[in-house]
Amino acid sequence: MADSPHGTLLVVADGMGGHAGGEVASQTATEAILGCVQQAEPGRGGEAILAEALQRANQSIRARAEQEPTLRGMGTTAVCVLVHADEIAWAHVGDSRLYVHRPGELRQVTRDQSRVQAMVDAGQITADEARVHPMRNVISQALGSRADVTPEMGSHPVQPGMVLLLCTDGLNGMVEDRRIGEILDQGNADALDPTAQALVDAALEAGGEDNVTVVLANPAP
Ligand code: CA
Repeated sequence: MADSPHGTLLVVADGMGGHAGGEVASQTATEAILGCVQQAEPGRGGEAILAEALQRANQSIRARAEQEPTLRGMGTTAVCVLVHADEIAWAHVGDSRLYVHRPGELRQVTRDQSRVQAMVDAGQITADEARVHPMRNVISQALGSRADVTPEMGSHPVQPGMVLLLCTDGLNGMVEDRRIGEILDQGNADALDPTAQALVDAALEAGGEDNVTVVLANPAP
């Protein structure tokens, strides 16, 4: 989480390509996105800033892998959000997610760029089957994997009582949305750390082996 002239930036990136590569890819992406947002011209829209930041992050990861052969093949997902006044803008590549929670209601905002999501869209499997499908880890786009990436983006009004949840599939792959919503319902929107910990604990209790990253934020002033 970081402040910029364009609002508060939230980023979650889930690296892949061996332990070292995954770590370097997610860190490189986070730094590139932050740098790009901080340098963006005033007056530009949040969605455009974030989409360009993701393109820039893609190039940074590829440049880094080019220099260090041991890092070749590394990549990362990224979901990022800019909270500015009464609106949030978001953009993402891969299958890390943004959810919006309001009391009694959890809504997935991003749509995974993944093989199983394509199968759900085609009506071949249900969303519940996707969570346990053998192909569930196959993403259709990652930062670093090819010269061009196509981020998906959008915006959403800030509403009272709203909490933003950004997470890796280490959370939503292990814990059903219904349970994530219950944990958020039990939390306090003004003190989110214990709720974030409760979500991580739920993923680990469900047998989570994947790294679980959870960012919660309350965008309402
Ligand atoms: Ca993961």
